[in-house]
Amino acid sequence: MEPGYEDLPQFFADNQIVVVASMPCYQEQNVDRQRGKGVYADSIAGLLKLNLVGYGAPGSSLELNLVYNPDDPILPPNQQTLENDYKRELRQDHGIEFNQLFALANMPISRYGARLLAKNQYTGYMTLLRDAFEVGNLATVMCRSLISVDYQGFVYDCDFNQMLELPLIGTDKIKPHLRELLSTDWNGAPISVGEHCYGCTAGQGSSCGGALAGAE
Ligand code: SF4
Repeated sequence: MEPGYEDLPQFFADNQIVVVASMPCYQEQNVDRQRGKGVYADSIAGLLKLNLVGYGAPGSSLELNLVYNPDDPILPPNQQTLENDYKRELRQDHGIEFNQLFALANMPISRYGARLLAKNQYTGYMTLLRDAFEVGNLATVMCRSLISVDYQGFVYDCDFNQMLELPLIGTDKIKPHLRELLSTDWNGAPISVGEHCYGCTAGQGSSCGGALAGAE
């Protein structure tokens, strides 16, 4: 909705781009409290523009997915139940259609980690994540099938490791660049892990594609 970006919905559609959009709630007061005044109205306007060019419509190949993650230090609720709520409310109130809702756990790192520390909630949240660990999620955590590439082309196991500057350990390079790795066989390569990985493996699991199959 920023000036100068008006052509993006059509550009996305022309290039068959899958859109994954952050939408922390279907209620205005919750979104504006979390993200700032007016964010809900802009988000709704943006989603309607995407619908208008064919995103989320039944039978359309243009995929529009929304992302929820809790503001409080709690695990996300059941993804399917929440998706049903989002679909019902957004359709009823605004006529918006979308494909899937991804329910993500908050990672106890960077800005969110600092906020937890400032509110003296870090230890409690880590205990919650650790206690909710589900071994079945290990088979499908996103670092097993995806990598993260920063804007300069350096490669990490995932975007959380990128934020933490945790190096990739699956190669003999100290800071591997994508161009050095194009012919690398990644099968079975080790992955850098840490305490934050409980954020991906707790409860129904969490990834850039939403809940993990291992927890179903
Ligand atoms: S945070 Fe850990 S478990 Fe999650 S994707 Fe990254 S390396 Fe894998």
